[in-house]
Amino acid sequence: MIELIDVNKAYGTGNRALRDINITIKDGEFVFIMGRSGSGKTTLLRLLIKEEEPTSGEVFVNDIRLQSMSRRHIPRYRRTIGIVFQDFRLLKDRNVFENVAFAQRITGVPLRTIRESVPEMLKLVGLSAKYKAMPQHLSGGEQQRVAIARALINRPEVLLADEPTGNLDHQNALEIMKLLADINQMGTTVVVVTHSQELVEQMGGRVITMDRGKVISDEIQQPGLHKK
Ligand code: ADP
Ligand code: MG
Repeated sequence: MIELIDVNKAYGTGNRALRDINITIKDGEFVFIMGRSGSGKTTLLRLLIKEEEPTSGEVFVNDIRLQSMSRRHIPRYRRTIGIVFQDFRLLKDRNVFENVAFAQRITGVPLRTIRESVPEMLKLVGLSAKYKAMPQHLSGGEQQRVAIARALINRPEVLLADEPTGNLDHQNALEIMKLLADINQMGTTVVVVTHSQELVEQMGGRVITMDRGKVISDEIQQPGLHKK
C-alpha cells in the first residue's frame, strides 16, 4: 500500500510543488496520475522512491515509513520498486539482455538465475526475439518494453512510470499502456503518470488529477467512453 498523508513539498526557495496531498493506493491497484506540466506529478513519484523528502506530512510504502528509513537502507528499498521513465534510460553500450540483467548483475545474483529471469521478463514484454539487439536499433516502443522488463526483473510489488508513453506515437503508447495493465493484472501495483487524456479515456480506471500541487479530483473513469 502507498499512503501519502498531509504531504507538502516545497523546493528551496519556497516553490510549493505539493500541497496537502492525501492519497491511498491499495495493493494491486492501477492508478493514473494526470495533470499539466509543473503540477507536481514527478515530485510525488520522487517522494515514493525517497529521492526527495516531504517538507511536512508522512509517506508510507508497503508499511514502511519512508522518513524513518536510514540512508543505508535506501538502495535495498528502491529495489522493491520498479521505475520507468519517458526517455527509457537504457544503457546504450549494452544489448537488450544486458540491460534487463543489469539490476541482477550488480547485486550479485547467480548467472544461472539471470539466464532464467531475463528471458522470462523479455517474454513478458513481447521481446524474446530481440535479446541481442542494441537499444539504438529498437523502436521507441521496443525500448520502453526493455525498460519495463528491466524494472520488473527484481519482482517489485510496485511499478512507477513517469510519462512512459511521452515519446511514443499513439499506437505504441496504447500498447505500452496495455502491457502495464497486464502487469497490473498479474498482481503488481502500477502508478502511471501521463499527460494523455485520450489514453486515459481509452484505458479507464482510477484517475487522480493534479493542478498546481493539489489533487483536484480522484475518480474512477469508465474505459472507452470517447473512442475514436
Ligand atoms: P510535473 O512532473 O507535474 O511536471 P514537477 O513535480 O516536476 O511537476 O514540478 C512541480 C513544481 O516543482 C514545478 O513548479 C517545478 O518547477 C518545481 N520543481 C520540480 N523539481 C524541482 C527542483 N529540483 N528544484 C526546484 N523546483 C523544482
Ligand atoms: Mg514530470
